[in-house]
Amino acid sequence: MNKPVRTRFAPSPTGYLHVGGARTALFNYLFARKHGGSFILRVEDTDKERNTDEAREAIFQGLSWLGMDWDEGPGKGGDCGPYNQSERQEIYDSYFEKLVAANRVYADDGAYRFRFERKPITMHDLVCGEVTVDYTDESINPDMVVKRSDGTFTFHFVNVVDDIEMGMTHVLRGEDHLMNTPKHLQLFEAFGVEAPAYAHIPLILNMDGSKMSKRDQGAAIAEYATQGYSSEAVFNFLALLGWSPKDESEIFSPDELIEKFTIESINRAPGKFDIEKCGWVNQQHLAKLSAEEFAAAAAPYVAEAGIEVDDKYIAIAGSIQEKVRLLTEVPEMIGFFYNADYPFSDDALAKVQKNEAAAELLNQLAEALEGLGDWAEAKASIGATAKANGAKPGQLMFPTRVALTGAAGGPDLGAILEILGQNESVRRIRRAVAALR
Ligand code: GLU
Repeated sequence: MNKPVRTRFAPSPTGYLHVGGARTALFNYLFARKHGGSFILRVEDTDKERNTDEAREAIFQGLSWLGMDWDEGPGKGGDCGPYNQSERQEIYDSYFEKLVAANRVYADDGAYRFRFERKPITMHDLVCGEVTVDYTDESINPDMVVKRSDGTFTFHFVNVVDDIEMGMTHVLRGEDHLMNTPKHLQLFEAFGVEAPAYAHIPLILNMDGSKMSKRDQGAAIAEYATQGYSSEAVFNFLALLGWSPKDESEIFSPDELIEKFTIESINRAPGKFDIEKCGWVNQQHLAKLSAEEFAAAAAPYVAEAGIEVDDKYIAIAGSIQEKVRLLTEVPEMIGFFYNADYPFSDDALAKVQKNEAAAELLNQLAEALEGLGDWAEAKASIGATAKANGAKPGQLMFPTRVALTGAAGGPDLGAILEILGQNESVRRIRRAVAALR
């Protein structure tokens, strides 16, 4: 019988949560959820010099924002705690004693080295395939330090002890750890414990092929919310960095990703980080929301911009929903609805003025709209007014748009008329006529 799946994300809290770390967390999360297993958060905070509380918080917040709830770990508890390595010294000491008893460590300059078995070690990585490191030659692979002279233990040692103690069945981690794994397998063997299955996931590169650094645009997960991305879109985008489903589709909800994710479909080639694509993915996710959901998602950005919404807000947000790439664009796009004195863009006004008849056409339209009994006819009466005055509908459509919004582009004209209603539409058109004359 297969053991229940247990995976973990094991960040070192030395900086904010970046794209690479979040992607590693995500793959572990997806795999655990897919198999009904557990996803554990373990904080690898052994480097006292470089750890900060801000970094810990940033990692927790980033994971929470992305919706990756951990089953065990800080703030959650669990049977295998504590989940901060800094609190596990006794456990490490007892494991060290096992190595001492098995004569696998020896003192060297105050530190302790682990005696490698002098033989080839082959790992069967689920992504990278078979990788062999030959330990026969001691001068190439000298015994490694596991305990420092100050009594603290090294990364390799604590990482393996915790994966044993926390019962990990699968370890998905960055390819930068690939060559650590044979060392880890040596330790598992020394402890007489079966190692977890390993899957080393490809690096993430910039579009120009350079290695992505923590300073690159889009590297910090915390910035995505402020820049107007929805968390589900970022979740989706991260999954596509180094993984792709069998079919061509790319837009998935978290649940769909859980269903589709397999280790076999992790790519061997590096993931290309394309922030433009992230914008596109975001737009697709926003477009799928109901008008209510979209309005709610945009609300914080709208409030931040100082716009006080009213009962028309859902319809207003809905009118621009499909055009929005980033939620930060929403306040500017809907601003004219909430500003009776919205400015006319110079360019748009100049374009309207190219047609000398525009002001009079708009004046006629205001008359016609004012007399309209059924407001549902408003859009149709633009064409009718143009015709009645010997003009083409297009010659009045654009001026009407500029009159109602101040700008050359925006939501569908019919939606604008419906939302503004009769009085306000007529008032706005007359205001434009005055500006044109
Ligand atoms: N703390 C290590 C890192 O952040 C964890 C490596 C692992 O997942 O085993 O790279």
